Amino acid sequence: MEALARDRFELADDLIYLDGNSLGPLPRGVSQRMAEVIQTEWGASLIRGWNDHSWIGMPGRVGDRIARLIGAGLGTVMVTDSTSLNVAKVLSAAVDLRPQRRVVLSDSGNFPTDLYMAQGLLGARKTGHELRIVAPEEVEAAITDAGDDLAVVMLTHVDYRTGRMHDMPSVTAATHAAGALSLWDLAHSAGAVPVDLTGDDVDFAVGCTYKYLNGGPGSPGFAYAAPQHAATMTPLLSGWMGHASPFAFDLDYQPAEGVERLRVGTPPVLALSALDAALDVWDGIEMAAVREASVGLTTAFIEGVEDRCGDHDLQLVTPRDPARRGSQVSFAHPAAYAVVQALIADDVIGDFRAPDVMRFGFTPLYLGLAEVEEAVERLRTVLDERRWDRAAFKVRAAVT
Ligand SMILES: *Cc1c(COP(=O)(O)O)cnc(C)c1O
Repeated sequence: MEALARDRFELADDLIYLDGNSLGPLPRGVSQRMAEVIQTEWGASLIRGWNDHSWIGMPGRVGDRIARLIGAGLGTVMVTDSTSLNVAKVLSAAVDLRPQRRVVLSDSGNFPTDLYMAQGLLGARKTGHELRIVAPEEVEAAITDAGDDLAVVMLTHVDYRTGRMHDMPSVTAATHAAGALSLWDLAHSAGAVPVDLTGDDVDFAVGCTYKYLNGGPGSPGFAYAAPQHAATMTPLLSGWMGHASPFAFDLDYQPAEGVERLRVGTPPVLALSALDAALDVWDGIEMAAVREASVGLTTAFIEGVEDRCGDHDLQLVTPRDPARRGSQVSFAHPAAYAVVQALIADDVIGDFRAPDVMRFGFTPLYLGLAEVEEAVERLRTVLDERRWDRAAFKVRAAVT
């Protein structure tokens, strides 16, 4: 099985990049497009660019391109702000739509920033809301337990550390049966696994664009609101770009129609342009094909590692059932940090998550079975030769 579109990326031939779940690689065409945007749009058009190049509409236009990948309708996704900020914005809107209820349910597999933002937001509101955090496998029982007090279920679809994937249709249905609203973080789903926000009747969603969508370091996040909520929700941050007519310069805030009201300030045109160009790699690619290839790659990696490295102290922490995992595989190892460093020195880039997890993302757009087999062999060499046991590989960098 070959990669689906490796020629659409600028990747060195001998590099095995297994960290596209953290920062996607540079797609071909982005550098050139950026040079064009900077020279002709910014440089030559100057202030006229807002109209001549429709910069002002970019959050919605780029959002529509992402919508196709997450099963959302046109005009329901805005690319704006960071994922952290978007969590606070849509959580606030969701909580307001269930005014009599006081529980926001999440799980301990959620990415910390989502929990931090919820803690900060609910604390600042001073409305007595509780953020209830349960184990991932206890979510459905906790939905029933919370009953009439459940306002919102806020979960990350694919666990950033273990790769475990929640059953989005079933959890969303249980949430609705309890009278509550769903908020899904798609950071490790968008561009990685098929998602059907419309079909699953999801209320709110957020996600990153610099992971599987390859938008570049710090590219803006996206936010989704189902049309029935978008039209009535109250924006937490009522910035001028989310105003019904920003250039009327009214003294009073009037929310824009629909999901546009999730916009806040001036859009980052250069970052959006890079993301827009990066999204070209999805032309002609269907998420069903990506998923099928991804399951093949993750299965081959798990089987390869267990077969070739089975005598080393590795523990699979990702669900073995492909239906229950996203597009990454994690193994625990007592020297996980140093093993990852030794692998990186050998051109296999994965990453480490505390306390002892080695994480490998598999992106079928630029990875095929040959790369998976080669990665397994290089891991085996690192372990057989105890290369990780060198002082240089044990020094933890500030950012890993
Ligand atoms: C990567 C990630 C984030 C990052 O949020 P930023 O605001 O972009 O830093 C948030 N949530 C999840 C689940 C993530 O995996």
